[in-house]
Amino acid sequence: MTTAKRVYSFGAGKADGNKEMNDLLGGKGAGLAEMSSIGIPVPPGFTITTSVCTLFYKNGKRLPKDVLPAVAAALHKVEKLAGKRFGAARNPLLVSVRSGARVSMPGMMDTVLNLGLNDKTVEGLAEQSGDERFAWDSYRRFCAMFGDVVLGMKPQRKEDRDPFEIILDRKKEALGVKLDSALPVSALKELVAEFKAEVLQKKGIHFPDEPMQQLVAAIEAVFQSWENERARAYRRINGIPASWGTAVTVQSMVFGNMGEDSGTGVAFTRNPATGANEFYGEFLVNAQGEDVVAGTRTPQKISELAARFPEIAQQLEEARSRLERHYRDMQDIEFTIERGRLYLLQTRAGKRTGFAAVRIAVEMAEEGLVTPREAILRVDPSALNQMLRPVFDEGAKQRALASGRFLANGLPAGPGAATGRIVFFATDAEAWKEKGEQVVLVRHETSPENIRGMAAANGFLTAFGGMTSHAALVARQMGKVAIVGCEALSFDYEARTMTVATPGGPRTLSEGDWISIDGSTGQVIEGSVETTPSEVVQVLIEKKLHPADAPVYRQFAKLLEWADQERRLKVRANADLPDQATVAIAFGAQGIGLCRTEHMFFGEGKIGPMREMIVAETGRERRAALAKLLPLQREDFAGLFRAMGSRPVTIRTIDPPLHEFLPQDEKGVAELALATGKSAERIRARIDELRESNPMLGNRGCRLGISYPEITETQARAIFEAACDVADEGIEVQPEVMIPLVCERNELDHQAKIVRDVAAAVFAERGRALQYSVGTMIEIPRGALTADRIAETAEFFSFGTNDLTQMAFGISRDDVGPVLHIYLEEDIFEVDPFVSIDREGVGELMRIAVERGRRTRPSLKLGICGEHGGDPSSVEFCHQIGLDYVSCSPYRLPIARLAAAQAALRERAAGAGLRSRSPARIRLARAGPSAPPSTPPSCTPRRARPPRA
Ligand code: PEP
Ligand code: MG
Repeated sequence: MTTAKRVYSFGAGKADGNKEMNDLLGGKGAGLAEMSSIGIPVPPGFTITTSVCTLFYKNGKRLPKDVLPAVAAALHKVEKLAGKRFGAARNPLLVSVRSGARVSMPGMMDTVLNLGLNDKTVEGLAEQSGDERFAWDSYRRFCAMFGDVVLGMKPQRKEDRDPFEIILDRKKEALGVKLDSALPVSALKELVAEFKAEVLQKKGIHFPDEPMQQLVAAIEAVFQSWENERARAYRRINGIPASWGTAVTVQSMVFGNMGEDSGTGVAFTRNPATGANEFYGEFLVNAQGEDVVAGTRTPQKISELAARFPEIAQQLEEARSRLERHYRDMQDIEFTIERGRLYLLQTRAGKRTGFAAVRIAVEMAEEGLVTPREAILRVDPSALNQMLRPVFDEGAKQRALASGRFLANGLPAGPGAATGRIVFFATDAEAWKEKGEQVVLVRHETSPENIRGMAAANGFLTAFGGMTSHAALVARQMGKVAIVGCEALSFDYEARTMTVATPGGPRTLSEGDWISIDGSTGQVIEGSVETTPSEVVQVLIEKKLHPADAPVYRQFAKLLEWADQERRLKVRANADLPDQATVAIAFGAQGIGLCRTEHMFFGEGKIGPMREMIVAETGRERRAALAKLLPLQREDFAGLFRAMGSRPVTIRTIDPPLHEFLPQDEKGVAELALATGKSAERIRARIDELRESNPMLGNRGCRLGISYPEITETQARAIFEAACDVADEGIEVQPEVMIPLVCERNELDHQAKIVRDVAAAVFAERGRALQYSVGTMIEIPRGALTADRIAETAEFFSFGTNDLTQMAFGISRDDVGPVLHIYLEEDIFEVDPFVSIDREGVGELMRIAVERGRRTRPSLKLGICGEHGGDPSSVEFCHQIGLDYVSCSPYRLPIARLAAAQAALRERAAGAGLRSRSPARIRLARAGPSAPPSTPPSCTPRRARPPRA
């Protein structure tokens, strides 16, 4: 029996793996293998696969038996290539042990550096480097890192301090030195002994000196870090399945802290914030890699590297263009200079803002580096949200600056505008957000522990760190507004204040004060500043900006133009009012997929007659109230038809439980009593009568139209009269009347008959006939299962996946919040099924309905109008099962257009659509980039109902 290969070696221009092996080797392992193969200088090493991680967990957190022999063999190869021996007293090999998942999870998992050091090898390192101080400094760092990561001594609570830092600080205090670098060798030696004593005291074990024992423990610890709290939170936020696991890469150490001819840096082959084609990055002289990413020292710009290390700068520039041409994508690289020699430690597709993603994709296609089709596939559809987000109103910002509210400048790491109240702790950001506050997280620096708070904040501002610091990386990934490296800030966390060295002198701000940050310019402003629509919105919706003056818009439009040429799925909008329809058209809607007529009743002057209609106790009373509603609805529908021109407009008859329209307070009761001439008592009694225990499963949807046929009659009349009015204006209207919540064909027959009878009557009255269709929502499992019968009457289906999900899971969509929270936390659900279609269950019902429906009526038109219609992974699924269109809120149309094009392209690439599995599964479950942009008022809300009594 052959066993799977567990370990993949790389180094000296060769590698067992390659860049296609991301899933098995993780991004880091695959990148190192590829770089090694194409002759980029990387220190030799090997990668233990992600499948070992899976087995490790299956085995009760033990490494499978065949892993260690493979590790030993691979280590031997590294020894040969490096010309050093692991554990040797002379010229010892030291290694780093790092995590590496399929997609990068910056800083969420653990790393151990300088592994292999002990009291013997430290002397060897001193000899080899000719620098005793460096050797002992590396040793004390290793002991602390090993203690924290492998032996679990890292503090668990935010109030606690790292035990090794406490010892270090004590030592500095005793010697009267401020900086670590001022500690003499003797002090470093003492620190090593004290760190080990701390391990013995806290953990009851001797610090392991045997290098192989260190290595095995470190590999296990890195695998275990896949399940640490930070990594789990990150996975949840980004929709990364727990089943993927991490790889572990063990690599020969190179040192950027070997003196003034050494250094370390991080760079992007293009600007990750704006997408501009410029080499963009930072480096630190005489430092280790962690120092750049941790953001604890503000590094120098890469453009300054040439002045210090001209040859290295030249080599790096060559590596930049080589890697970009090789990967045909923007790369994020890590490098180390050890005594004047350059090594690359990592290359991966660089995280970028939505702005940068679009610009890079479009420009690379224009440069001929990728095809337009590849450009389409390069942009995460959800990232388009950022381009629709507001920016600061320039006038308001200038006024704020002129009135002395400018505080400081930092590095613009995440574009956009954010205003909120200052919080200094990530946990507070979460808690305040829960209370409904808008917050900006302000800190010295952020770390992976802060991830949930960062997701909760409108934006973040840090005092330290460069454009590649943790805060900057996370901002770009989450699509958050961020400013980093704002050195004018200093903090008193105890007092929950910060002091800003402003041009006019120091200014102190406290927790809860308002602050505004411009992530496009790096300006920090006191107080809140008004925002204005984005460039795209100004061109498309407000028509205040000419495309010629809007480069961001032009790239956005170009990408979507390419996408439109590839997609098969049509896109429609969920829109209830003419202004929403206009927005929808600007964003590319090819029709309206759902007009929720009940939303119209909340409009000016309509709720009164609507309430009269509901409390009516006889058919005559109800008709009288409906007669008042008829002209109002007719006008609404006419507005929609006019706005949409010859595009199809699906109008749904009334859906939610009637009592939701009723007054919730005494004032409303009194008004209704006055309007109807009934007593307040009687009105209250009627409201009680209408109250239901489970309104979601009660008298709603077509059941209402069946209970009160005159409602459907009136709505149908309003639709057809409006259609005739608009058709008389020369517009070719295409009404589609949709009956909600059908589970049985007879229900639809009942309602369709009313609609068709009214249509015939109106056409007879108006002396003209119009094309129209009658269809239904498929949103009850029984409806899906009996789709063949329902299709005998329905001319179209629209999947109401909000209700279909609710009923397939048996979880009320109104009450799901707390359950979902736990389920996502416990990995019971990988993603929120109300956000992304559950393909196995809800998706199966949809497949069945498509298949059975089309069997009865091959011309059946199929769409979706649940919230999932704007979710990239769900759009892909809709493409795969052969729907004709997706319908979503207007501001999500660009996402749907791009996602539909990607689905078509992937299907073509896979050769068979139903088998393809998409990277679009890597998506947000609950927060962050895939949430719609702060929704303008004209957007369709998810469920715009008055609160229940
Ligand atoms: C649905 O259920 O998916 C749907 C679109 O209808 P509503 O959200 O109005 O119930
Ligand atoms: Mg519904």
